[in-house]
Amino acid sequence: MSEMQPSPAKLALIGFCYDENSSFTKGSADAPGQIRAALRSEAWNLWSESGVDLGADNTFFDAGDIEPLPGGDMISLIEQSIATLLNDKLAPLSLGGDHSITYPIIKALSRKYDELSILHFDAHPDLYHDFQGNRYSHASPFARIMEEKLVKRLVQVGIRTINAHQREQIERFGVEVLEMKSYDDHYELQFDTPVYISFDIDALDPAFAPGVSHREPGGLSTRQAIDLIRRLKGNVVGADIVEFNPRMDPLHITGTVCAKLLKEIAAKMLGV
Ligand code: MN
Ligand code: MN
Repeated sequence: MSEMQPSPAKLALIGFCYDENSSFTKGSADAPGQIRAALRSEAWNLWSESGVDLGADNTFFDAGDIEPLPGGDMISLIEQSIATLLNDKLAPLSLGGDHSITYPIIKALSRKYDELSILHFDAHPDLYHDFQGNRYSHASPFARIMEEKLVKRLVQVGIRTINAHQREQIERFGVEVLEMKSYDDHYELQFDTPVYISFDIDALDPAFAPGVSHREPGGLSTRQAIDLIRRLKGNVVGADIVEFNPRMDPLHITGTVCAKLLKEIAAKMLGV
């Protein structure tokens, strides 16, 4: 009878309804439900551009949403949630929440993968040693990740807000930054290690994705981001989509943009 069994899911969706480490304004805790609703909207189908039907049975295991706990407890809970999925041989696709969730996610992944790289889409380097006294700020996850040497390479795309402190951190940690000011439509990103995609939606120009807490003009188009993902060469073992703030999204467009990126990233994680 084994041939009658559907193949088990390889991807897990998990939502983190958490924005306690968001410095300027709250609201990204409301994002996971909005992205799920956009993904399942009858306004479109669930095929990726690369030809994967993400609506097919057992493409996703949906681990549901994780509700917040106070302070450091949440960081441990995020790490444990991801570790549980990895133990079940599921590749996590996390919906944020603010960008602070990426540090505990990478802590869990780095225990499974001896060598790991990150492809980080963002307007901001998120390398502050601390921000307003908070070491776990959404402006600091990659400082923690690099200090603890959790990854081999950190490659950042879409960056357009570097200040003197963050420039020092980039040099200190050997971060590879593809700054927006010198963006090239022909970038082909390649990773020899397993790679994690961390997608802060403010990497996109606010014309395309206004629903973010920190709007920074001059960013990527949705098309450029999709093409970077499609051309990426590497084994994508996990991803997050963070910093979508539905309270800043009067035209209700940004949730759909997140869901579109989710489809293309999921297809890439399935190796297509
Ligand atoms: Mn950002
Ligand atoms: Mn960020």
